[in-house]
Amino acid sequence: MSNVQYNCDHPHFMVHADVNRLTREGGGPAYAFAADFHVNCAVCGQSFVFLCPVGGLLPDQPTISVDGTELRAPMVPSDRPEMRGEVGFRVSVASELMREKHS
Ligand SMILES: [Zn+2]
Repeated sequence: MSNVQYNCDHPHFMVHADVNRLTREGGGPAYAFAADFHVNCAVCGQSFVFLCPVGGLLPDQPTISVDGTELRAPMVPSDRPEMRGEVGFRVSVASELMREKHS
């Protein structure tokens, strides 16, 4: 998207979603699922940044990409609640590190 109009009011949106099966080996059983979302203005193409405080990829809570333009939402099938609680990774942002350093 390079049709940026700097005075656009962003009146309409496009959503791109991917749903991923997370496996430990290719073709193996899924240990988790994740839906990834990107939102852009349908008029000018400007991407939107999600205001989620956690960057990275976690199986039990929503996270965002480093640039904030991708929302990563872990999920499990409603008939498989035992799939909750797998291991992921977390990216700390500078403000979080500064808060921990001064507390
Ligand atoms: Zn726009």
